[in-house]
Amino acid sequence: LWNDHPMNWTLARRTQAMNPSVIREILKVTERPDIISFAGGLPAPDTFPVEALRQATDQVLSRDGRAALQYAASEGFGPLREAVAAQLRGQGMGVDAGQVLITTGSQQALDLVGKVLIDAGSRVLVESPTYLGALQAFAPMEPAFAAVPSDAEGPDPEALARLATAGATPARCAYLLPNFQNPSGRTLSAARRDELVATAQRAGLPLVEDNPYGDLWFDAPPPPPLAARWAEGCLYLGSFSKVLAPGLRLGYVVAPRAVFPKLLQAKQAADLHTPGFNQRIVARLLEDGFLERHVPTIRARYRAQCAAMLAALEREMAGLDVRWNAPEGGMFLWVRLPAGLDATALLPEAVNAGVAYVPGAAFFAEAPDVRTLRLSFVTASVEQIDRGIAALAAVVRAAQAKPTPATQVLAAAE
Ligand code: PMP
Repeated sequence: LWNDHPMNWTLARRTQAMNPSVIREILKVTERPDIISFAGGLPAPDTFPVEALRQATDQVLSRDGRAALQYAASEGFGPLREAVAAQLRGQGMGVDAGQVLITTGSQQALDLVGKVLIDAGSRVLVESPTYLGALQAFAPMEPAFAAVPSDAEGPDPEALARLATAGATPARCAYLLPNFQNPSGRTLSAARRDELVATAQRAGLPLVEDNPYGDLWFDAPPPPPLAARWAEGCLYLGSFSKVLAPGLRLGYVVAPRAVFPKLLQAKQAADLHTPGFNQRIVARLLEDGFLERHVPTIRARYRAQCAAMLAALEREMAGLDVRWNAPEGGMFLWVRLPAGLDATALLPEAVNAGVAYVPGAAFFAEAPDVRTLRLSFVTASVEQIDRGIAALAAVVRAAQAKPTPATQVLAAAE
């Protein structure tokens, strides 16, 4: 009886722009225990401060339990906003707590920024490659993405200037990841930051600066944020996911007064507020200086794992035309395979050989470089890194030895 009324749902046009994340699809395959996965974008769970969170949770419940469990302000928990502002002032940004909007992960901040800045057809400039999750967050607003060409130092300022004004209307914003970029691990030099900000100022181009990895530097902190150079023209996004735990879902966006109220209204509509319980727990950890003691332990660990992966690449890729960068922090390293190889096509063979990565093509809004791939060095042990990179090198070597489809075609024609 209940099945007598089939229904043809008509979905909103924007759903056509929603797609399953390529990475999540790959992760499903790589969850097999026999596979060494460099594919995940997850922090190392050993770094999650379970005991400190237990104590802070206890304190919140015993001192402030009822308020912590009540509905709360959409802006966020006052002491947490203050602590975030103070931390950013330490990096040279002129921020007061009233400009800090606490969000449910910085992923929500990307969603809110998309809603507030982007109309259907708006041009949005992105790096090449860029963070896939931002493309996903912005896509339902139906922007026209334009990829800014870049070199090893980051997006090219001249290209940014050109693309800012190339369309019928000026580009709405440029989305930039200055520190230890996901996926490429790249960091913008201080000089490049100056040039990009000067270019954006001349063009009146707003910047969306996404910085979840900036605290995870290995030897020296990165140069100050873009927002420290141009507070009026930047939306700055940060996160506690990589320095505490992503399961807390705590991030923030710092906005100039011209934009803050609209982000706040979008936040209200989305989820009223980020859990006040979690915000109080993290505020406690910041108050007693825990984060300052904790983050150096993550840095040391990731630095050693990155060094192990670089050493394994040196050793195993010898004689192969494989290139990679040496990140100065963060979680990822970017690899380029020899000409003629396609990292997406090669993935099934790599998985058969017991190693997984994310093909780079997914991270390009335009003109994907199919030879690229992303490796995370943070979740595998050093022993797994050694074995995994050896397996990957064997796969690349075997693929190079095989005649490519093009040579097969030529051979058949002869
Ligand atoms: N931006 C970038 C560049 C990221 O890599 C991530 C997490 N993978 C996010 C934003 C979102 O992080 P979260 O929502 O956990 O703060």
